Amino acid sequence: MIRGKLDVKPFERKLYLSSPTMHGDELRYMTEAFETNWMSTVGKNIDEAEAAAAQLVGVRYAVALGCGTAALHLAVKLAGERLYGRAETGRGVLEGRKAFCSDMTFDATVNPVAYEGGEAVFIDTERETWNMDPNALERAFAQYPDVRLVVAAHLYGTPAKVDELRAVCDAHDALLVEDAAESFGATYRGRQTGSFGDYSVISFNGNKIITGSAGGMFLTDSATDADKVRKWSTQSRENAPWYQHAEMGYNYRMSNVVAGVVRGQLPYLDEHIAQKRAIYLRYRDGLQGLPVMMNPYDAENSVPNFWLSCLLIDDDAMCAMTRTDTAYSYTPEAGKSCPHEILDAIQSINAEGRPIWKPMHLQPIYRGHAFVAAADGADVGADIFRRGLCLPSDNKMTAEQQARIIETIRRCFD
Ligand SMILES: *Cc1c(COP(=O)(O)O)cnc(C)c1O
Repeated sequence: MIRGKLDVKPFERKLYLSSPTMHGDELRYMTEAFETNWMSTVGKNIDEAEAAAAQLVGVRYAVALGCGTAALHLAVKLAGERLYGRAETGRGVLEGRKAFCSDMTFDATVNPVAYEGGEAVFIDTERETWNMDPNALERAFAQYPDVRLVVAAHLYGTPAKVDELRAVCDAHDALLVEDAAESFGATYRGRQTGSFGDYSVISFNGNKIITGSAGGMFLTDSATDADKVRKWSTQSRENAPWYQHAEMGYNYRMSNVVAGVVRGQLPYLDEHIAQKRAIYLRYRDGLQGLPVMMNPYDAENSVPNFWLSCLLIDDDAMCAMTRTDTAYSYTPEAGKSCPHEILDAIQSINAEGRPIWKPMHLQPIYRGHAFVAAADGADVGADIFRRGLCLPSDNKMTAEQQARIIETIRRCFD
C-alpha cells in the first residue's frame, strides 16, 4: 500500500527528475548549421559555444567534446602523461598507478581512471556538501603516499570544499581533475566550479542544467593543453599531407549541430539556476516539520546551481528497508518512511525521483577497490545512499505541481 498515493491527483504528463528546457534559439542555431552545411565537427556553433562557455566559467579555453565522459577521459589522460610520461601504444597511462576518486558520484567520474589502466581508490564523502571529504583524502595520502592524482566531483550542483581539497593535493604534489558536470554555474568563494582543477570538465548531457542533447567540454587556462585535447579528440592527426599519427587518437569532438543547441542554451544558465533554486527553496519550506533535511551546502562560501533537490531522512524516522544488488523492499510504519516508499509514492502520481547515486565502493564493478573513510569504520556515503533520495527537480515544474509532490511526501510520514 502506497500511503502517499491517497487522493493526490496524478500528473497527466510525466514530471521528470530533470529534463531538457528549450527556448527556441537552439533550433535557430541547429538550422543555421544545416543551411550552411556545417553538418560536421567543425563550424561556427562550436567556436561560439566554446567561447561562451569559457567566458562563463572564467577560463581561457574550452574544448567542445561529444560528452562529459570523453572530456574526463582526456583530462585524466593529460594528468597521467604529465605525471608519468606517455604510455606505449596499447597501454594506459595510469597502468600500475592508483588515483583517489570521489566515491558518491556518477560512475563517469571514475571510469576514465580505469580506461587508462589505473586503479581508483575511493574517498569517502563529508556531510556538509556531500562531496569528497578533505580529511579522508588526507588519510588516503598517509596510506598511499605515492598517489599523485585526485578526481573530484561537485555532486548535484553543490560545490565541494574545493580550497581544502586543493590544499591537500598541493601538500602531496598531486594534480586535481575537477568534474563539474553537474555543477555548471555554481560558485565557490565567488569563483565558478570548472575553474579549480588542473583539468576541469562540464557536461551537456540531456539531464544537466544546460544541455546540448549530449556534449561536454574540457576547460583549461593552458593553450598547450587545449591544443592537445583538440588534437587527441580528432584522432591525433599530425600536421602532414596524409593521415599521419604519432600518438593515440579518439573521435571525441562535438558535432556542430549539438553545439548549436549548447550555443542556444548557454544564455539561459542564470535563468535555469534561478528556477532550480526556487524549486529547492519550495521543497525546503514545504517539507518543514518532517524528520528530513535537504541536501546541504556551505551557504557562507558557495552558491550551488541547485541542479537536483535531494532529501535525507532522519535515521530515527526510517522505516525498515533492505536492498540487494538490484531490488529493494520495505515495511511501512506509522510516522516513519524510507527512500523507496517515497520514490514509489512519487512514481504513483506519475513523477520521477531517484535514489542517491550509489557510492562507487558499493558497486560490483569496483568491488575489491580500496575505500578510505574519514575515520575508521565510518561510511558516510553508504549512510546517505541508505537515507537519501533525489526529488523531481525539473525546471518546468510549476509551484502547483510541486505542492502535489510535497503533499505526497508528507503522506509517507503519516
Ligand atoms: C553527467 C555526468 C558525467 C558525464 O557526462 P556525460 O556528458 O553524460 O558523459 C560525469 N560526471 C558526473 C558527476 C555526471 O553527473
